[in-house]
Amino acid sequence: MTHMREENKTIHGLLYGSWMIRPNLWVLSNGWQNFQYLFVGERQAVLIDTGYGEGNIRAVVEEKTKLPVMVINTHGHFDHTGGNGCWPKAWMGEAAQLDCKQWFEPIHEQWIAQKPYPNYETGVLADGTRIDLGNEVLEILSIPAHHDGSIAILAQKNRFLFTGDEFESGQVLMLLHRSDPNFLPTIVRHRANAERLLSRRSEYDALFPAHNGYLLDPDRYLSDFIALDGEILNGTAQAQPDTAGFNFPADAVASGSVFGAYGRQIRVCHGAASIVYRDDLD
Ligand SMILES: [Zn+2]
Repeated sequence: MTHMREENKTIHGLLYGSWMIRPNLWVLSNGWQNFQYLFVGERQAVLIDTGYGEGNIRAVVEEKTKLPVMVINTHGHFDHTGGNGCWPKAWMGEAAQLDCKQWFEPIHEQWIAQKPYPNYETGVLADGTRIDLGNEVLEILSIPAHHDGSIAILAQKNRFLFTGDEFESGQVLMLLHRSDPNFLPTIVRHRANAERLLSRRSEYDALFPAHNGYLLDPDRYLSDFIALDGEILNGTAQAQPDTAGFNFPADAVASGSVFGAYGRQIRVCHGAASIVYRDDLD
């Protein structure tokens, strides 16, 4: 056993679990309630997000498929882009190019440096782009709010909709103070994005966010986000007692969590939808 563990460690760093949730659709996860999705098409595979980049996610992917892999990031935050450097190129929304190599913690810089392509190339996926995988076509939908470069990815034949951090289980983080001039426009955009996705409801069966949980019911979930965004905009959203749960600390500042850098935060909810944003100015 010890030998096996050591051998495995040199390959994967014992970091990634993986499981199949639909034919040809795998989840790869390395323990931060972060989900990377691998869809294996007929001619090509697509990896949606690459996690923080610890260990060798490419080795895990190549155990599943020998097809060429196109790397796509749902947005530019480092917990989705850290493993990009395992490949020579990653594709993303235009604004994600600005921060996709910006690590959160110093250890991440070391992980990037260990990758075969630390200075990997980036390519832009504009709204409406279609990617033909042979037996599947992916359509890119820009849905910026949590991040300016966020995209949703609609798998037209399999009827999957990948929503990154924009419509996710647990909570959507809006790392802005409500007095920030960008705050209300961001919430307006978030609501418009939910309405847009709901207007395409006949084209997919479930949502696959990047954190906490997947296979979400789109009707309930997107409608609740539309209602919650409306309550934030008209000032009736009710703050919950704390932000605990879903891997999020009760007090982000006191906990020393990475979220603490953004100041004290509040969670507001409506049904299945939950949004966290800043409540004070440091
Ligand atoms: Zn994010």
